[in-house]
Amino acid sequence: MTIKSSAKKKTIATTSLAGCFGCHMSLLDIDLRLLDLIDVVQFDRSPLTDIKNISQRIDLGLIEGGVCNDENVHVLRAFREHCDILVSLGECAIMGGLPALRNDIPLKECLEEAYLNVPTSEPGARLIPHHVDLPKILDRVYPCHEIVKIDYFIPGCAPSADAIWKAVTAILFGQGEALGPEFIRYD
Ligand code: SF4
Repeated sequence: MTIKSSAKKKTIATTSLAGCFGCHMSLLDIDLRLLDLIDVVQFDRSPLTDIKNISQRIDLGLIEGGVCNDENVHVLRAFREHCDILVSLGECAIMGGLPALRNDIPLKECLEEAYLNVPTSEPGARLIPHHVDLPKILDRVYPCHEIVKIDYFIPGCAPSADAIWKAVTAILFGQGEALGPEFIRYD
């Protein structure tokens, strides 16, 4: 499908919170259609551009990953503030994903297991890392829609490139059909 271009390029920003970048890899998997996209879209803040801060009003924000620390909260709120449409991309953003497996275990126990009881910790070291510059870990991992309003959800781990392509072009340009069941994955 060729995207109809308009005079002004649409703007997209993306980020990964508590995610593995697999959803971004799936975004890159749209392959040659990326060339169509960059004709009509400008990527702002994103791991794809390495731009660290949103610099303008954004038409579409794509969020990978759930919310596991206070920096994630800050980034997600900034995306909500600057993006007209905000999308949870993938299982981790929608449900917390793999990182949310810790949600049934008290945070103190998780930290002790990770830093004190792990076989690779230095003998005698009894230190859980903490510093004013380190993000504070939250009591549990939250799906994005529990922190800010999310407009659309694209399920999957990761969502397929075709599903991302169809959703993004439909949202931004009103083109393409609705996602059929063949594009909706929960694995
Ligand atoms: Fe990675 Fe899957 Fe989470 Fe996407 S949904 S960030 S691919 S674990």
